[in-house]
Amino acid sequence: MNQYVIAIDQGTTSTRAIVFDHSGSIVSSGQMEHEQIFPQAGWVEHDAAEIWNNTREVIGSALSKANLTRHDIAAVGITNQRETAVVWDKNTGEPVYNAIVWQDTRTQPIVDELAKDGGGDRFKQKVGLPLATYFSGTKIKWILDNVDGARERAEAGDLLFGNTDAWVLWNLTGGTDGGVHVTDVTNASRTLFMDLETLQWDQEILDIFGVPASMMPAIKSSSEVYGHVHTSQLLRETPVAGILGDQQAATFGQAAFQAGEAKNTYGTGCFLIFNTGEEIVHSKNGLLTTLGYKLGDQKPHYALEGSIAVTGSLIQWLRDNLGMISSAPQVEELAAAVEDNGGVYIVPAFSGLFAPYWRADARGAIVGLTRYANKGHIARAALEATAFQTREVLDAVNADSGVPLTELKVDGGMVANDALMQFQADILGVPVVRPKVIETTALGAAYAAGLAVGFWNDLGELSANWGEDKRWEPQMDKAEQERQLRLWKKAVTKSMDWVD
Ligand code: ADP
Repeated sequence: MNQYVIAIDQGTTSTRAIVFDHSGSIVSSGQMEHEQIFPQAGWVEHDAAEIWNNTREVIGSALSKANLTRHDIAAVGITNQRETAVVWDKNTGEPVYNAIVWQDTRTQPIVDELAKDGGGDRFKQKVGLPLATYFSGTKIKWILDNVDGARERAEAGDLLFGNTDAWVLWNLTGGTDGGVHVTDVTNASRTLFMDLETLQWDQEILDIFGVPASMMPAIKSSSEVYGHVHTSQLLRETPVAGILGDQQAATFGQAAFQAGEAKNTYGTGCFLIFNTGEEIVHSKNGLLTTLGYKLGDQKPHYALEGSIAVTGSLIQWLRDNLGMISSAPQVEELAAAVEDNGGVYIVPAFSGLFAPYWRADARGAIVGLTRYANKGHIARAALEATAFQTREVLDAVNADSGVPLTELKVDGGMVANDALMQFQADILGVPVVRPKVIETTALGAAYAAGLAVGFWNDLGELSANWGEDKRWEPQMDKAEQERQLRLWKKAVTKSMDWVD
């Protein structure tokens, strides 16, 4: 009875359901990719209905693979791609538009317009974020401004907004038949609308954006029973008891519970989160201030975050747009065929540059090309771009916190790449450490849900589950490290100020 917790990981490229046991080990899982819709340059959408269908499918396959029923599952946790905005009609359950994905840059004109009055940091003190296309707020406004009749329907109270956590939760708990419209503090902290101190929507900012408060989900902690799975679904009556945005979930899954601990997740993008405990730290170096987690009625934990938009998706680009490889892991072989990057640097500023630059006017650049360069060098430069971007974020974290990090916990799809992790340690000059369970995102959501229902008792129990799998020590000499960084920074300057 109730020996497991299931986590739904609604990610950017796929949706997974993973069943964990009490030791935090994976028992079974299901996964489905969903379509990436690119209607124009800079636009990225998902079909929210497809995501919900996939969610049901992957729950089914995870349970059936291990011969489990709802009676074996103590709780459901949800983690999700953050910022991606879904707006749907609460009477029909139909999205009014495709989900606008976090990487989408169509809202730059909205950002520019809002920044005219008070600059790009006008809300930063309150919400921890600069005005940027990245966050949900501008995406909601775009939908209300551009979808026929949406604003009227929103004002009449018929439309609901959610990140994909709230979308999945609302559907799981009954949808049009009593679905719960709730999000957690970590997701709410990515909208531009939540006051970091009060953990409530800020009416003044909502008014400036023209977003009716009735669309917004109630903000709850990251670990409590929000509702139960509706009778028509597979896990019927099971409590849904944890929500954490993917990066915060990974931090939680890495058991980085204490101030001063950090992790970096290498997926579509890269996200370094540095736990600042109960203190709200405002960055002077291009980092975001965000919620780390909040357990029930305990005090919230805050974090500094360095978000990098494009890392793993650059490898996908080599695969899908250039046809250089047929699968992402093949990049390893290609890169291993050459000694070094041959002087080639790629700055993958596909959606501008995020941390620590926040330059919407940047676009991708490949520099240092000579007649000598071949596809091995390009592959190598693509991988190294991830490590260089992470180094710049770590420098910002160290500058903001004043206490240099002594090692970096890592996770995500790209950490399977040994050569990349070695290069990362070399470029950082500190060890890089991978835990046994690299599905830390799903694990974090499972932990949050399990804590709420007493499946796990306390954080100490979770820390005890963390185990080291592999550690990469820095080996590059200092002069070479500095030369590489110098060239990288020069390459970054070439990517800026590109948009007309
Ligand atoms: P997300 O959760 O953001 O969808 P994942 O954590 O599943 O991403 O990681 C997938 C990403 O990792 C993809 O962008 C893919 O290109 C990249 N990737 C997968 N395997 C490798 C590899 N061996 N080397 C480099 N990148 C890889």
